[in-house]
Amino acid sequence: MTDIGLAPVQSDPALEGDHERMAHIVLEGVTTTEGEFVSAGNSVVEGMINGTAVKALCGKIWVPGRDPKKYPLCPTCKDIAESMGWKVPAQ
Ligand SMILES: [Zn+2]
Repeated sequence: MTDIGLAPVQSDPALEGDHERMAHIVLEGVTTTEGEFVSAGNSVVEGMINGTAVKALCGKIWVPGRDPKKYPLCPTCKDIAESMGWKVPAQ
């Protein structure tokens, strides 16, 4: 069994407007049965520190911020994660 690294991340409403107040799920990588982490893209923490953009499951690309507010999970991201059989992370 492999562990899927999913991270729910809020987009920044200051940059994107009220309609973007949602948390999107970013696939960070996969940990294999050997315990090896295989990166699937930029990590969320890296994005917060370095300002690099991350890509959500729904295809949204943005630079993650540090906003601690809780927004509802993006329904598209949630559908994709569930259809892949991945456990949707608790917020
Ligand atoms: Zn999304």
